[in-house]
Amino acid sequence: MGALEIAIRSSMHEVGGKLLESIINSDGGAYRGRKLSCECGEEKDFIEYRYKRIHTVLSKINVKRSYYYCEECNEG
Ligand SMILES: [Zn+2]
Repeated sequence: MGALEIAIRSSMHEVGGKLLESIINSDGGAYRGRKLSCECGEEKDFIEYRYKRIHTVLSKINVKRSYYYCEECNEG
């Protein structure tokens, strides 16, 4: 019985993790256009989507985020 319970719990965590991942990524990686205004007054360019693997209580999930880069500040 114990092994079955552990297997079911593990499966439920995986399902919950997938649900959490889809909810977190439902904003399209927080994409806000090809350019964003930077604090320095210049513009940041959209470079690519980046993924970060995060360990949650449910499971490990991939979080998609837009990466912007400002050539003036040399910062992303
Ligand atoms: Zn800047």
